[in-house]
Amino acid sequence: MEACFICPRKCGADRETQRGLCGAESLPRVAKAMLHQWEEPFLSGTRGSGTVFFSGCNLGCVYCQNYKIRDGNVGKLLDATALANLYLSLQSDGAHNINLVTAAPYLQQVVESLCRARALGLTIPVVYNSSGYECVDAIRQLEGLVDVYLPDWKYFSPLLSEKFSNAPDYANIALACILEMHRQVGELVLDHDGLARRGLAIRHLILPGCADDSRKILDAIADLLPISTHVSLMSQYTPQVYTTEFPLNRRITQREYDRVISYALWRGLYNILVQQRDSAESAYTPDFTEQI
Ligand code: SF4
Repeated sequence: MEACFICPRKCGADRETQRGLCGAESLPRVAKAMLHQWEEPFLSGTRGSGTVFFSGCNLGCVYCQNYKIRDGNVGKLLDATALANLYLSLQSDGAHNINLVTAAPYLQQVVESLCRARALGLTIPVVYNSSGYECVDAIRQLEGLVDVYLPDWKYFSPLLSEKFSNAPDYANIALACILEMHRQVGELVLDHDGLARRGLAIRHLILPGCADDSRKILDAIADLLPISTHVSLMSQYTPQVYTTEFPLNRRITQREYDRVISYALWRGLYNILVQQRDSAESAYTPDFTEQI
């Protein structure tokens, strides 16, 4: 591998000899693979979403909900062949789909593994679960290989994205990615069991004290994408042991959550997914101490 410039960080690391800003080495490191029951119902269904958590992340939010794997140290190194076999094994276990979580630093091997797995009999949909902080050129390489895109749209304000993710350009980059994803797969299509077959769904994790920013994201979605776009409004934000700084040191309130939902509906967005705030938050974050 030569100097890496595949994500907007463009740090130029030679990952054969050093780690990038994302913590990634040259081979993909997988922290966990599991049948995930706590994704959106259109992914988890009754048997679970075949989720592959890649270790390392090019965004590195200060409040990361998966901070144990953010630095790229947890898990096993797998080449494209081993990744393809992992997808097939999740399919054999009954997964409704293959759900690739923060795979951005490993684009080349992910493309190769998906081609290989399809040739070897992978038939379930492939979901690409992204922070939204990716290059459009990278997303273009996934055309025809990914069925469902599940990008985050985390911030609208450059001040917030700089403060919490050291990425003042986040909103413009995420919007460009989302528009490219929509161009490839269109709006979300569900089968007769309510499971996603193809299309785009946007996730937004509401942060405490940041509801104004949430409303601006909803404005942009309503103005720039079809009004039927699926938006998953996530209330599960949980302060981690190290997120003691205001305003990240608490969960969001029910009032904050309800007002963001009401705003989305007022803007005409009608495919809104909501979470029960009192459901078990810990279940959303898998135990990364177990081996894959
Ligand atoms: S994927 Fe990682 S190594 Fe490559 S440019 Fe981004 S941060 Fe740097």
